[in-house]
Order: sequence, then structure tokens, then C-alpha cells
Amino acid sequence: MSAEGCGRTVAGSPEVALRKAVHALGLRFRLHRTVAPRCTPDFILPRCHVAVFVDGCFWHGCPRHGAREFRGPNAQLWEDKIAANQARNDRNTGAAQAAGWYVVHIWECEVRQDPVTAAQRVRRATSGQEPSAP
Ligand SMILES: [Zn+2]
Repeated sequence: MSAEGCGRTVAGSPEVALRKAVHALGLRFRLHRTVAPRCTPDFILPRCHVAVFVDGCFWHGCPRHGAREFRGPNAQLWEDKIAANQARNDRNTGAAQAAGWYVVHIWECEVRQDPVTAAQRVRRATSGQEPSAP
């Protein structure tokens, strides 16, 4: 998988696609609200205290699409950047949970493959049926 293979396509934002699908399920959300210091999920469902992050496959190191091996002059740069993103993800998740939010991470590829299924995962979280994400 090349570095350009995933996460930087331009066929619409996965975050927007997911929001549309979530809205279609009748869930109401707020965008880019800060739920903890320096922690701003992509959107939140305030009524049920669910915070949703949409993670880009490349920049967040998706197990299916994240580049495993970098080549070229920027290789170290990318590795560092992705490691930093993952660390920030973990920190954000912890901060949001500590503030009482149930955190859901959705991969960009899950949305691209099937926004409705991804949205249903959000809906399950709102009813507390999904086990806590690792
Ligand atoms: Zn992916």
C-alpha cells in the first residue's frame, strides 16, 4: 500500500458521510465540541454522552490500510507523525472517558465501505450495547 493509497482521497469527507448516515438514523449531534481540555471529537451526541472520532486510515495507522513500511526521504517523518496521532488518539480517548463520555472510534474505511453500518455502530453505542473500544 502506497502512502497515497488511503486517507487522502478526495471523494468526500468520511466524517461528513458518517454524519449524514447518523442523522438519517434519527440521532442528533453537535460538531467539534470540546469535551475535555484539548479534546475535540469529530462530533458528539450530547443526549447520550457519546463522543465520536473518525480516524483517517493513513494518518492514524489503520490495521488494514495504514502503511506498514515507509520508504523515501520522508519515511521517518511519517512514522513519527502517525505515532504522534495514535498517542493523541489514546490521550483524547482517555480524556473524554474521564469526562464521562462514551468514546467511539470509526475508521475512515468503515465509513467508505458502508456509512450505514458505521452509523449503526454509533447508534449501538448510544444504547450502551457495544463493548467499550480498546
Ligand atoms: Zn482503513
